[in-house]
Amino acid sequence: MPRRSLPAVPLEPSPPRPQGADDRLRDIAREVPAFLIELRQGADGRHRFGYVGEGIRAVLPIEADEVMADPARLFAMVHPEDVDRLRATMARAGREQARWDDEFRVCPAPERVVWLSIHARCTTCADGSQLWQGWLADVTERRLAQAALADSELRHRKLFDANPIPMWVHDRLTLRFLCVNDAAVARYGWSREAFLAMTLVDLRHPGPDGAEAGDPQAQDGGLRPATAHHRLHDGSLIEVELSSQPLTWNGRPARMVMALDVTARRRAEAEIQRLAYYDPLTGLPNRRLLTDRLRQAVAAVIRGGRHGAVLCVDLDDFKRVNDTRGHPAGDEVLLQAAARIRDCVRTEDTVARLGGDEFVVVLERLEGDARQAAAHADEAAQRLMTVLGRPFDITDMRFHSSASIGVAMFGTVDVRAEDVLMHADSAMYRAKAAGRGTIRFYDPAMQVALQTRAALETDLRRALSEGQLRLAYQAQVEGSGRTVGAEVLLRWQHPVRGQVPPMDFIPLAEETGLIVPIGQWVLETACTQLAGWARNAKTRALRLSVNVSARQFRQPDFVQRVERALSDSGADPSRLRLELTESLLLDNINDCIAKMQSLQAVGVGFSLDDFGTGYSSLSYLKRLPLEELKIDRSFIRDIATDPSDAVIVQTIIGMARNLGLTVIAEGVETAEQLAFLDRHGCGAFQGWYFGRPVPLPDFEASLDAHEPVVQAAPVPRQATSPVAATAVPDR
Ligand code: C2E
Ligand code: MG
Ligand code: MG
Repeated sequence: MPRRSLPAVPLEPSPPRPQGADDRLRDIAREVPAFLIELRQGADGRHRFGYVGEGIRAVLPIEADEVMADPARLFAMVHPEDVDRLRATMARAGREQARWDDEFRVCPAPERVVWLSIHARCTTCADGSQLWQGWLADVTERRLAQAALADSELRHRKLFDANPIPMWVHDRLTLRFLCVNDAAVARYGWSREAFLAMTLVDLRHPGPDGAEAGDPQAQDGGLRPATAHHRLHDGSLIEVELSSQPLTWNGRPARMVMALDVTARRRAEAEIQRLAYYDPLTGLPNRRLLTDRLRQAVAAVIRGGRHGAVLCVDLDDFKRVNDTRGHPAGDEVLLQAAARIRDCVRTEDTVARLGGDEFVVVLERLEGDARQAAAHADEAAQRLMTVLGRPFDITDMRFHSSASIGVAMFGTVDVRAEDVLMHADSAMYRAKAAGRGTIRFYDPAMQVALQTRAALETDLRRALSEGQLRLAYQAQVEGSGRTVGAEVLLRWQHPVRGQVPPMDFIPLAEETGLIVPIGQWVLETACTQLAGWARNAKTRALRLSVNVSARQFRQPDFVQRVERALSDSGADPSRLRLELTESLLLDNINDCIAKMQSLQAVGVGFSLDDFGTGYSSLSYLKRLPLEELKIDRSFIRDIATDPSDAVIVQTIIGMARNLGLTVIAEGVETAEQLAFLDRHGCGAFQGWYFGRPVPLPDFEASLDAHEPVVQAAPVPRQATSPVAATAVPDR
């Protein structure tokens, strides 16, 4: 029996020998999970082991001797599913005299499986029997690991295939696609076959900025997603976020890539950006973006020692289109205006819309020194004026307009963008005030005035609630010297500013609308006073004249407000006289007359204040339900010295008499003035000659001291005037 293939280990048990090389080998073999065998299959088909290595002990719970004695004990352990295959592979190897390499399971105990590999060679002996010599090894660990691997690969594969996000594996060197999932096929539009014939380069498209963005190979382990623009089968582009992972694919370096389509998200982000920073109508930057750009421009210009300018552009009469033709027409004008402004400046200049018809242009690179730069800004403003002066053709109408432009320069000193914008804005308002189609440059003096005004406005808002407003009473006197009443005049006692002159705060109250609550307070206070006086015989006949401002008078419920003040206080309406000015009445004469008539019907009288200073028209004077004309004090002042003033005053008195109106002269300061007026038939007087506007107690005290005045004409009375001594200063 040839033993050449089992060289190192004796095939038969032999008596113990002293430890030599063979003993050591045997000891080692016991520990290694493998064992040698020699198996003979006789002509009768029965198997007999010629040798079983002791190493079997490390693999199966059976001794070599036992197997040798009864081979069936080992055969019985073979997994039933593997028996047939094992026989077949053995028979084939025997027939072909080839190697027998196989792996099979044995079950040495219930629930226990051991994987064995067999590697043997068959020799046919002279007696026809077959001799197998070889070895078996325990490969359970490897088989389990492979099974686990196969299992996890299967799971990965499922994840890959069923992933709703497009995924593929491509060769890391050739970039050829090696496999793609269904989502990639669906999203990109190429069939799987077409995909596998392409490389990654076929998908890539340079980004909108031309950069070949998003090479996933540049990433490290897919931690940072890169973005790329990919071309779809239909030619359209999508933006993708790529995450990738290196792997080995059939032994080659490859990369698994996940391509998340972010096109819609990016579009939404862009939309959000657009809404936040751009005017939805014109698409021009809005105030937020403008401020941002202006900040950068101011910083850049100052850094570069250059000059820039901000132009605030406002369309004159835009409100008219909006009011008369509706908002769609207004929008159309704005769109055309925006386009004209845009075309008028360089691409690097910012054009923004702040809302309404207000546009802002930032000119960042003006050549030359400060003066030359201002000249360039002026030229730009002129150009804008020209293009905006052209008619706007909108649906079924042609709109003619002009623009008012305010310019503020920047660059010489460190200044905040917000301030530059404010300067340009205030210059624009000055341009508007100067008339249509005007350009104005900002100058600091104007700014100071504006700031002062803003502070005054803040204070005025508090004045009423904090009780800083008072009324002064200025006597109105008849020729007999009898005080017939008083004009109430507002006084603002500011805690810090002191006495603020009415001419400083009344126009402001008018502009801001504060005159409405303030005027109401005056009216109510006057009515309460009249009601109080009615209880006293000495004061019962007194009248009060109350000044009414245009804004106040135009309130739709003005009549009701007056009536309520009267009824709430219980004052006699015939004791109340409202002073209106001509300019107030000119606005909407029919509405004015209606209001006056309503109040006249309840007994309230009207006086036309500052008469002679406006564009008095006799035709409407006739229509107004007036009781009294009040000659402005500018005519009274020079009445004794200026012949034309004297003539005017005489004319007014004569005209009033013809119209059946009484006349009162205001600003009477001297006996000469008084004498002249009396001589020409003026029936009532008001002025320092009789008394300055004073607090109520002083006014009431002065009532006792009255005496006839007209006869005393030659003697100047001012010094001896009973109320002059206690007068509060007017200004
Ligand atoms: P006005 O209604 O024409 O009031 C007459 C102004 O002439 C008052 O100035 C008065 O103090 C002043 N005045 C009276 N006599 C003389 C005089 O002999 N010489 C000179 N130089 N001035 C005299 P005031 O009080 O400063 O008021 C100015 C204007 O403020 C008033 O002009 C009136 O338009 C407005 N105003 C005052 N109080 C009110 C009010 O309660 N409501 C409204 N809406 N306006 C008021
Ligand atoms: Mg008045
Ligand atoms: Mg007046």
